[in-house]
Amino acid sequence: MIKAILTIDDIATSNTPNLVDYLVEKGITVLMFAQGSHIERYPENVIYALQKGMVVGNHSYSHPNFAEISFEEGIQEIEKTEKLLDDIYKKADVERKYRPFRFPYGSKGGDNKDRYQQYFKDKGFSKLDDRKIAYPWWKEFGLSTDIDTLWTFDFAEYQIRPDSGFTMDDVFKRVHDSNPASGGALLEDGSNHIILMHDHEETLAMVPDYYKIMIEHVLECGVMFERPEFI
Ligand SMILES: [Zn+2]
Repeated sequence: MIKAILTIDDIATSNTPNLVDYLVEKGITVLMFAQGSHIERYPENVIYALQKGMVVGNHSYSHPNFAEISFEEGIQEIEKTEKLLDDIYKKADVERKYRPFRFPYGSKGGDNKDRYQQYFKDKGFSKLDDRKIAYPWWKEFGLSTDIDTLWTFDFAEYQIRPDSGFTMDDVFKRVHDSNPASGGALLEDGSNHIILMHDHEETLAMVPDYYKIMIEHVLECGVMFERPEFI
């Protein structure tokens, strides 16, 4: 059995309601990470995701690399988006039970890494329940105790861009890679994953329905999606 929690970054876009409708049709509840500036641009689409039962967390306001900005700037990025999330949950009339955070680019904040983790603890941010993830490196790199949400498998479909040479075939190769250079082997029996996907109009322009193609494929390969739970 292969179990996974699906996380979708960079919402919201003009396509978010279509994405949410598809997830609902498949019975998949996901953890979405919103950029604050995207909440401002597409508030109704975030409300739509919330009212359909998706969990929406904080992915900073303007998506900087936290290793390249000061701690104070980082906190501003986080807190501006926390306010936007509080407001949008209220507008959606959905109780905000959890406060997960994901750093853009998987950056942990460079020299400020420990300060950010302490901040998340002090402010009551939510940790995605990752206790079933058995990879030694998950513990080794401190990911089992970090509060922010990283991932164990990345589709990397955001690399499908004009002239990048990266195609859906490369995404499938990653899905079937039994010894990936980064992350865990998705289809290894008994594994538990946090999967990273993105809500990007640019990818949709390259591959219509890309998220349906990817999700259908991993479902056929036996991946079972579980609801995100928090500890
Ligand atoms: Zn992102």
